[in-house]
Amino acid sequence: MLGPPGAGKGTQAERLARAIGIPHLSTGDMLRTNVANDTDLGRQAKAFMEAGDLVPDELVTAMVIDRLAQDDAACGYLLDGYPRNPAQAQSLVDAFGEEVLELALLLEVDPDELVQRLVLRGQEQGRSDDTEAVIRNRLAVYEEQTAPLVEYYESAGRLARVEGLGTIPEIFGRLIEVLAA
Ligand code: ADP
Repeated sequence: MLGPPGAGKGTQAERLARAIGIPHLSTGDMLRTNVANDTDLGRQAKAFMEAGDLVPDELVTAMVIDRLAQDDAACGYLLDGYPRNPAQAQSLVDAFGEEVLELALLLEVDPDELVQRLVLRGQEQGRSDDTEAVIRNRLAVYEEQTAPLVEYYESAGRLARVEGLGTIPEIFGRLIEVLAA
């Protein structure tokens, strides 16, 4: 699942994974759990997350490779938040082969809408990286580092675009349609 911060990836990925019966693997959630439990990884990741920067590739990639090797991922998974740059995409292929990701689902949302949504979420959920300055940095990081993956998966014939504007059930319906096709 690919898309800018605030596109609704987490919400949709969770519903989609449940509907299909595969695990929803969110690197953001995994990292936040590590921070909350004050693990070594959490301590190393915390400052990057609070600034809205990417956590260094080697830390996140090791975490994802470990997670994908667990039994419940043997019959498929929905990855949310990874890969986030071309180097991470390459690491996945190096570890598991070209077939590691069957399809990239891109949730597309107008950039003006994103800041508004994220500020609102920050107020509702108290996520410490949902303040306006950090949000702007996360969007810039997405444009610079993650957006090139759109072309990468498109040229590999593995990209599906889904309009991310609408109600949660509407967008969910579009995702299901794309998968069915
Ligand atoms: P969002 O997509 O809304 O920014 P996430 O929950 O996906 O939220 O990510 C929150 C933060 O976790 C990111 O800003 C980044 O610091 C870190 N993070 C998550 N996934 C990765 C990744 N694949 N590589 C590096 N950092 C990551």
